[in-house]
Amino acid sequence: MWDGTNPEGIFPMIIGHEWAGEVIEVGSGVTRFKPGQRVLGECGIACHMCSKCKAGYPAEYCENARYYGFMTETPGAMAEYQTFIAEALYEVPQEFSFDEASLVEPVSIAFNSVYEAGSGVTSLDRVLIFGAGPIGLAALVIVKSSGAQAVVAEINPYRQKMALDLGADEVIDPAKEDPTKKVMEYTGNQGASLILECSASNQAIESMLDCVAMRGRVVLVGQTLGRKIPIEIGKTIFRGASIIGNHGSAFTFINTMRFMSQHTDITKLITHRFPLEEIEEALTVGKSGMCGKIVMNP
Ligand SMILES: [Zn+2]
Repeated sequence: MWDGTNPEGIFPMIIGHEWAGEVIEVGSGVTRFKPGQRVLGECGIACHMCSKCKAGYPAEYCENARYYGFMTETPGAMAEYQTFIAEALYEVPQEFSFDEASLVEPVSIAFNSVYEAGSGVTSLDRVLIFGAGPIGLAALVIVKSSGAQAVVAEINPYRQKMALDLGADEVIDPAKEDPTKKVMEYTGNQGASLILECSASNQAIESMLDCVAMRGRVVLVGQTLGRKIPIEIGKTIFRGASIIGNHGSAFTFINTMRFMSQHTDITKLITHRFPLEEIEEALTVGKSGMCGKIVMNP
């Protein structure tokens, strides 16, 4: 978005959709929140009128959804003050710092990938995570909390190390090793019963159907919109495998917060903190990939 090459972000606007803060003032119709309260917010705002909203889908599916931190008229949180619609706010759990609370939105995407799109995880699962960016790493913590085996494929050495620190059983470097061969070796030739594709890499997507177990589930999380990636789709038939897309849902915020209260090691996702004045340096570190989550403290 910073480069202006991502169609998700339309400038001029204020970015920042993963945040927490304190209520300073409320509008006349607001009764659920009061000044002094600590809050965090969803990103997508539903219209409550369209056919998708009426059918009970979350805001991400709404035909008229607005996104805070992505549009001029709904500015994001990289600022000292932000106006926000009350219906999309949650009270921050007492045990959370603001930094932890700012992780709820991205962790909810990982949580949704595992527990909604991925149909959950048990200690019997052999999980393969492509990509150890913040979502992949959050998924790793969620997967490991169930006792499942977790194999992570990642080319960035900084993030390979983070994956090991966060409990990955094995880390594969797809730039140096054949991921399919290694996955088969690590899973006793069974393949992965759950694959979380968080890398958006062509190479990962091309190999995922060779890594999946019989009746395995593949969840696509990494954004590849606008790109055609060749895969041998017939392999899903003979493996009885399923592929499902996921881009998160605010409906999982409550359970995500519950999970985070029980698994505080998730805060290890934060590797850097910057004051708002150093935004350019923070974005440069973010772009380098030599980091986990970066927190801006206005
Ligand atoms: Zn709608």
